[in-house]
Amino acid sequence: GGSLDIHAELVRLINEQGLACSVNLEHEPHGEEVGVKKSGCHGFCEMGPLVRIEPQGWLYIKVKLEDCAEIVAETIVGGRFIERLAYKKNGQTYPTQEDIPFYKKQTRLVLEHCGHIDATSLKEYLAIGGYSAFEKALFAMTPDEIVKEIDESNLRGRGGGGYPAGRKWSQVKRQKEPQKYVVCNGDEGDPGAFMDRSVMEGDPHRMLEGMMIAGFACGASEGYIYVRAEYPLAIDRLETAIAEARECGLLGKNILGSGFDFDISISKGAGAFVCGEGSALTASIEGNRGMPRVKPPRTVEQGLYAKPTVLNNVETFANVPLIILKGAAWYKTVGPEKSPGTKAFALTGNIENTGLIEVPMGTTLREVIFDIGGGIRGGAGFKAVQIGGPSGGCLTNQHLDLPLDFDSLKKAGAMIGSGGLVVMDEHTCMVEVARFFMNFTQNESCGKCLPCREGTKRMLEILERIVAGQGEAGDIDMLLELADTISATALCGLGKTAAFPVVSTIKYFRDEYEAHVNEKR
Ligand code: SF4
Repeated sequence: GGSLDIHAELVRLINEQGLACSVNLEHEPHGEEVGVKKSGCHGFCEMGPLVRIEPQGWLYIKVKLEDCAEIVAETIVGGRFIERLAYKKNGQTYPTQEDIPFYKKQTRLVLEHCGHIDATSLKEYLAIGGYSAFEKALFAMTPDEIVKEIDESNLRGRGGGGYPAGRKWSQVKRQKEPQKYVVCNGDEGDPGAFMDRSVMEGDPHRMLEGMMIAGFACGASEGYIYVRAEYPLAIDRLETAIAEARECGLLGKNILGSGFDFDISISKGAGAFVCGEGSALTASIEGNRGMPRVKPPRTVEQGLYAKPTVLNNVETFANVPLIILKGAAWYKTVGPEKSPGTKAFALTGNIENTGLIEVPMGTTLREVIFDIGGGIRGGAGFKAVQIGGPSGGCLTNQHLDLPLDFDSLKKAGAMIGSGGLVVMDEHTCMVEVARFFMNFTQNESCGKCLPCREGTKRMLEILERIVAGQGEAGDIDMLLELADTISATALCGLGKTAAFPVVSTIKYFRDEYEAHVNEKR
């Protein structure tokens, strides 16, 4: 069974024992009572479903339905730790979650509540200090002070390009137009990326709080969350969170008597990768076809319904409450000063511990892959990692000690993107990797402009014939030429970056391309 079946089974068994209580932080279980909480994602996907026992912090991994009776009998009733269900590595058993190397090397700020709180309970979020940043912003700060604090924190947008959030907010704030919007990009279209999904499912109030602060700071009265329809649980959790926030006066007219009006709606996307691009996203919310448009005007000037719009992604908004509460100076102590804070990454591919991680910016690839990720699966050698999804590039052995932050990666010809990390072992064919990403991008091209519409098709054809051993002399140079043209002339980011995986794999693994081409002769 999945985690929801296991939750139901634990509730049933604990009920049978007559120990059950309803659990939230207003009524923590005590004495003989036992509560069962349904939390968001813990991030340790490879080991799920997970059951965490409080207050000991014991973590049971790969729990099956048939293990539930033993958990109740041994742990809940007997107070004993079950070694069989614990995480083990190199002959060592790790009873508590916090000691497992996968967690120990992480700094979980944005994901701090994911896996620990009931995401469907506003009471629980309030009990752990939720919405106190919004309260501080509303009653103890002016909009100018809020924008200044975000600007000074050097918070950079976590959705891809790393544009400073404070700069964006101040650009929206100074527009004369009285109607402004806040839009949260929860589209997350990169294959293998699920950071934003985990925040929306595991701690939805956190990003709502960030959006509310942005609304107050920039003078917006409406917010939209654009989330893909393939994330039904995220949509469900967000709907619950918005309804609860409305019910207790945190959204709506004259919020908490402050005179500030703000409400949030959800807009469901149909899963088009291009709708992660700002102008395509706002077009989609408006009910039009999700296609990018020529800029300027920029989204900060004419975004949603042609009004000034603050557009940030889920992870960016989720950072905001912390900065308001703890201050910009504190925030800059985490990670490098020009790229401070943490970054969530979705770790996938040929790695021991796949999952969702969060580390300070500036952490090296080596630490991520070998310390947190547990190294390459099956003891194979490391070959490369694709960072930033289809818009990113590959990094190799020579980049293992490169700090993961916006500026260092840019210098290396890669980008953080939204945070997908696909790790590849020594047996991976890098031409096939390039073909996979080009196939994805080609499918997702909206077709509006010729260089991307036709260029990606031609590149894909060449890659397909090279992989099939039918490559022609001159194919590799043709790929590079097409890549240059598409990057220079495509209308939006999708097209401009479409060739990056091809260019970077040719740069570091040209011999593999040549071997495929020579196969034919
Ligand atoms: Fe559409 Fe591609 Fe042109 Fe972007 S670059 S507008 S995705 S065709």
